Amino acid sequence: MTNDDTADSARAGLVELGRALYDRGITPGRTGNLSQVVGEHIIVTPTNSCLGRLHPGQLSVVARDGTHLDGPPPSKEAVLHLALYESRPDARAVAHVHSTHAVAYTCLDDLDPTDVLPPLTAYYVMRVGRLPLVGYLRPGDPGLGAAVVAAGSPCVLLAHHGSVAAATTLEAAVDAVEEIEETARIALLLRPHPHHPLSPAQADALRS
Ligand code: ZN
Repeated sequence: MTNDDTADSARAGLVELGRALYDRGITPGRTGNLSQVVGEHIIVTPTNSCLGRLHPGQLSVVARDGTHLDGPPPSKEAVLHLALYESRPDARAVAHVHSTHAVAYTCLDDLDPTDVLPPLTAYYVMRVGRLPLVGYLRPGDPGLGAAVVAAGSPCVLLAHHGSVAAATTLEAAVDAVEEIEETARIALLLRPHPHHPLSPAQADALRS
């Protein structure tokens, strides 16, 4: 496979995953953004784009320092992605969505900001693990990237905003933000009822 073939398949994969997220209502309207490392550069969804209507030939290309190299201007939230790539050398892709239940959960009182969602299912523990909550910052705040890095986890929930996940593949990053959304939904469903998460021993067994 040539470098061009790799770039083409990365673009097609990003478009397909964006449409899947949008079609299932995981990030509405013109919210959410995806990125993937391709060679020396990063492809990222353009500013003000809808994840359901991306085109492989209309993606932004940026350098690791954020310099815009090709295509339309990148998402203003690319700063989040770049901060995660810089701080996590193993990260090859980042997904960020404004999913309903995850955002709703961040607006509850008395959350543990070091690990905000309980370990309710095995898949949540395996795909997400610890999920810190980053306090509210307005959109475009230059401190957002640093706040996400300071949280010290590849998966982070942003208060009143959405989730972010970095992973070795875009599929894994998308799996993680979907798992965060589903776990937040389950947690909200359970909230009025007596319930219990996995025990620490059960959760630890999934991490080993
Ligand atoms: Zn956002």
